Amino acid sequence: MAQSSIEWTEMTWNPTTGCNKVSAGCKHCYAEVMARRLQAMGVEKYKDGFKLSVHEDALKIPYTWKRSKMVFVNSMSDLFHKDVPIEFIQKVFQVMKDNPQHVFQLLTKRSDVLLEYDKAGYLNWAHNIWMGVSVEDQKVTHRIDDLNKTNARVKFLSCEPLIGSLPNLKLDKIDWVIVGGESGRKPRPMKPEWVLDIQDQCLDHDVAFFFKQWGGTNKKKTGRLLDGRTWDEMPELPEEFETV
Ligand code: SF4
Repeated sequence: MAQSSIEWTEMTWNPTTGCNKVSAGCKHCYAEVMARRLQAMGVEKYKDGFKLSVHEDALKIPYTWKRSKMVFVNSMSDLFHKDVPIEFIQKVFQVMKDNPQHVFQLLTKRSDVLLEYDKAGYLNWAHNIWMGVSVEDQKVTHRIDDLNKTNARVKFLSCEPLIGSLPNLKLDKIDWVIVGGESGRKPRPMKPEWVLDIQDQCLDHDVAFFFKQWGGTNKKKTGRLLDGRTWDEMPELPEEFETV
């Protein structure tokens, strides 16, 4: 568990670590860079670097948090990676279900696996489990179709890094859209018109819109204002979530 600087969450929880690249959005994967850095620093959890690893001991952690948390699950991995046993995924779901006072935000690029497991009845959803798919360009909008077919109670899209326009998104069943530009040493550009178009689509469909960042080589400088203000909308929080 770690505090997170990601704008749309509070902390990260990584019951699995490691992954491999599946689409253009993975090109400058932050998790890979971080995993290799932590491996070089001798951190036990990352002794295998970016190889997919399952951490049974991490399953205890959410039971120890005192107040409600907004938690990004697997910032360093993808829970629906083919090497994660379904039994382990089910344990992660049980932990999330046991802790309705927290919101768990799951994000995957492997929407086909998500849908397969959901269709098979393996996933036990609860309203504090928010399920998202990454949609970086039009080549991967099929992930939205997969997500829409699942029984997840709260569904969201992470359009980050946004590297192409996304017209005609199927937002009817979507609760939340996050948009962000790529940052780092060689970021791919994000056009303002792509962002504004997604924002308009959210408005038309009454979908919560969160603008994370413009990105670029100096993301602090480019900031996160759109039309002179921040956009931090979120889906409705579950009743059990205590805000202090
Ligand atoms: S799916 Fe996510 S964690 Fe895995 S390589 Fe791609 S960006 Fe990195």
